[in-house]
Amino acid sequence: MLGYWRPHIDYQSFLVEKLTPIFLSDRPFVEQYEKALSKLYSLDLDPLKPIIAGRYSHTGAPAINQPELFRSFILMSELKIHSIPKWVQMLRNNRILSYMIGLEPSQVPGVGSHYDLVNRLWLENPDVEYESLHSLHSFSRKPHKKLKKNQKQPPQHPGIIQKLVDLALQGASFDSRPELLMQQIFAKIGVEPSAKAGILGNVKKLSISGDGTCINSGGSSYGIKVCNCNQKGIYNCDCKRRFSDPGARWGWDSYHECWFYGYTEYILSAYNKDLKCELVWFKLPASMAYLLL
Ligand SMILES: [Zn+2]
Repeated sequence: MLGYWRPHIDYQSFLVEKLTPIFLSDRPFVEQYEKALSKLYSLDLDPLKPIIAGRYSHTGAPAINQPELFRSFILMSELKIHSIPKWVQMLRNNRILSYMIGLEPSQVPGVGSHYDLVNRLWLENPDVEYESLHSLHSFSRKPHKKLKKNQKQPPQHPGIIQKLVDLALQGASFDSRPELLMQQIFAKIGVEPSAKAGILGNVKKLSISGDGTCINSGGSSYGIKVCNCNQKGIYNCDCKRRFSDPGARWGWDSYHECWFYGYTEYILSAYNKDLKCELVWFKLPASMAYLLL
């Protein structure tokens, strides 16, 4: 069950109380985190509680420090750290970082607690995920032929956009997507307060811009062979294999002029011409398109 949720106003007082003496004795040490500090100080996580409460059971030991864990991920991303074990170590060794997430260094949640939160917020059905990781998929080699600079790969599923538009106009939504809760959280604690503060300008007349980007997969494109062709002396077979990232595909990165293995993401952002600032408000992973085919 969900344990005590420290109100944002209490977190702000804690932060000021802990950082003031450090700031007075070693100002540059605190100032190096200025951007992250102001982000966390103004990021009110109180509206998050009712959104994620349903992801905790009604029984069992209360899950504590949940807003603090959430802040931990935000700070980790802000400081461009990509390994949870390395990050937990940093939080325990640097008191400013632990104060910034709202805890004493001795209270910093462990690696397991960080992964628990990821599992709660990512709505993938465990059975579907297991099936996808353990079933066999076709193997495709990295294409040899390079395309030209700025030349886009022809669409593999022509008409898919029209299909999506037709479905959207009929009122269809993708309620079973694993990232749904993450998007609801982003809307509640990021987009909504920004709109209220006027950062997005007139929300009834938004200026929107969009662009695609390539995301490399951490998974291997070769996969794991489960056939016995090797024993027969056949080393370059095309038998179906197991993949750690079964959704990844080969695609052409027209900017870097190379093939990449992963996903194409299309990002839409709202741009405020007066304030000259933009806010990403919706991400459409290309993998979503596969759900419709
Ligand atoms: Zn084989």
